[in-house]
Amino acid sequence: SLSRLLILGARHGDELELSAHGADAEGALDRVAALFDDGFGEGTDAAVPQSAPAPAPVEESPAPAPVAVGSGAVLRGRGVSAGKVAAPVVHLAPPLPEPDAAAVIAPADRLDEVSAIEWAAVAVADQLRSRTAQATGEARAILDASRLLASDPELVADATALVQAKGRSAARAVWEAAAVHEKGLAALGGRMAERVADIRDVRDRIIAEILEVDMPGVPERDEPFVLVAADLAPADTASLESGRCVGIVTEQGGPTSHTAIIARSLGLPAVVGVTGVTGVADGAMLLVDGDHGTVEVDPPEERVVAARAAAIVVPFDGTGSLADGHRVPLLANVGGAADAATAATARAEGVGLFRTEFCFLDRADAPSIDEQVAAYCGVLAAFPGRKVVVRTLDAGSDKPLPFANADHEDNPALGVRGLRIARRSPQLLDDQLRALALAARAEQAQVEVMAPMVSTVEEARDFAERCRAAGLERVGIMIETPSAALLAAELFEVVDFVSLGTNDLAQYTLAADRLVSELGDLNDPWQPAVLRLIGAVGEAGRAAGKPVGVCGEAGGDPTLAPVLVGLGVTSLSMTSRSLGRVAAALADVDEATCRRAATAILTAGTVDEARAAARAVLEGVSSH
Ligand code: PEP
Ligand code: MG
Repeated sequence: SLSRLLILGARHGDELELSAHGADAEGALDRVAALFDDGFGEGTDAAVPQSAPAPAPVEESPAPAPVAVGSGAVLRGRGVSAGKVAAPVVHLAPPLPEPDAAAVIAPADRLDEVSAIEWAAVAVADQLRSRTAQATGEARAILDASRLLASDPELVADATALVQAKGRSAARAVWEAAAVHEKGLAALGGRMAERVADIRDVRDRIIAEILEVDMPGVPERDEPFVLVAADLAPADTASLESGRCVGIVTEQGGPTSHTAIIARSLGLPAVVGVTGVTGVADGAMLLVDGDHGTVEVDPPEERVVAARAAAIVVPFDGTGSLADGHRVPLLANVGGAADAATAATARAEGVGLFRTEFCFLDRADAPSIDEQVAAYCGVLAAFPGRKVVVRTLDAGSDKPLPFANADHEDNPALGVRGLRIARRSPQLLDDQLRALALAARAEQAQVEVMAPMVSTVEEARDFAERCRAAGLERVGIMIETPSAALLAAELFEVVDFVSLGTNDLAQYTLAADRLVSELGDLNDPWQPAVLRLIGAVGEAGRAAGKPVGVCGEAGGDPTLAPVLVGLGVTSLSMTSRSLGRVAAALADVDEATCRRAATAILTAGTVDEARAAARAVLEGVSSH
């Protein structure tokens, strides 16, 4: 029984010790071992469900009636898959109502109910099998796991027993049998509790088959739509691959939920944790911004048009350069192996920012060195021979890690986050560096490592020493604080490269929380103070002859890209989808023009003046 394995807390690749006693104990063990070997009769490529981090609701309570959300509302959540999209809302088909607990089936009819359960379980496993065959990547693994649960003999046996012993209806018996399995998983807590959603998904499919009603899940449409749901089950997210869904918004879920994983691997912009979004009317226009975690209801037409234009992915030929041939490597920002695979397919020249904390957001305790090596190798393997800049854990503030951050800080953005965690837990940093060095040795990528949230030269020096002691040679830091930007020349004396985290640099320069949408105008890399700080870093980089990257959102802004190059930036890192547009913008201008644009914006006093100054220089030469 696969669900029993889950209740043990066993995961794919874990080792289990089996013991038996009584008559023919040996024979029983042999048969169980054989079952393991052939993948529970499903073939050995069948995956035992993998962990699907993200808090799943354990108690299923009836959903409260959604509160209507009107036009013009801007809802906030957590952007988990980058990009912008605008399309009408389609709601996920609701789950099935709980089958009647009071109905008692007459003994003479119980056999029919039992065979209804057996046939339904087979039919669901078959449907999921054919959908698995059509799916690819993450979606395939998730569907495969659901299919194995549907074939679980214990679920069917338990439900059958309930029909025979208590006269439950077939649907009710499946419901109750699933509830027992759910409880077992929920009691385990942590990652296993998160499998509850998988059991419920399979339960609903079997019941829908028994009752001959429509499956709950993603509706089929001919036109593009944004899917809105309280939460998505794994099989829902997996079915998105072949449909017309262009964006996802959910009330629940976290950055590592199935929804997030699938959305990222399909390149669908997604925002999760959006309270109230199920109250938006079916058919209303939604503008989903996966970068900023916002969802706008019925936005003005021009914003819809702009979002649609931005959603068209321009292909990238794999080489970023200016019109005069001056090279500007274009790299990708990734959060794990799936992103890295997408980035490699999009022909990114390497990885400019690997946000390692994204691998461990769901962890209550620190990952072991082996677990870290596996996670890092997954990214490095996508870029053999290419540069991969790995950032050490940037835990805290908007990305707290339970094992690294204190429970409460009054000002988490100004607190013990990023590299500052090493003050408190130096071993955490040293272990990560050791894991990185091991991963670097195991793979062909050219690994560079950098620290987030650096403010002083001492911090940078200490970090560089630790990296080199761990055997990591190319060491850099992120420039995310005004202090680091102003100290760039001194910082270049202790590190090999810097990378501008313009998201945080804007936040700290303008003293404006980047999570507060009302302050979005301040969190803008076109703010003159931010541009001047970038210019100071670029100048220090040129003087030191060392690379200056940009890996914040500004790196993927095609209008800003030539200006950044003119300011002394030597490479840009962005979400894979932006590579083509940025490449096209750079290919239109030569280095002298970029420098002229940079000089022009440095005297601007406002965002509008800076944009106008750049446009005045660039527009004459650019067709974009
Ligand atoms: C940044 O701050 O610009 C950055 C790239 O880091 P993050 O967005 O992960 O904080
Ligand atoms: Mg940052």
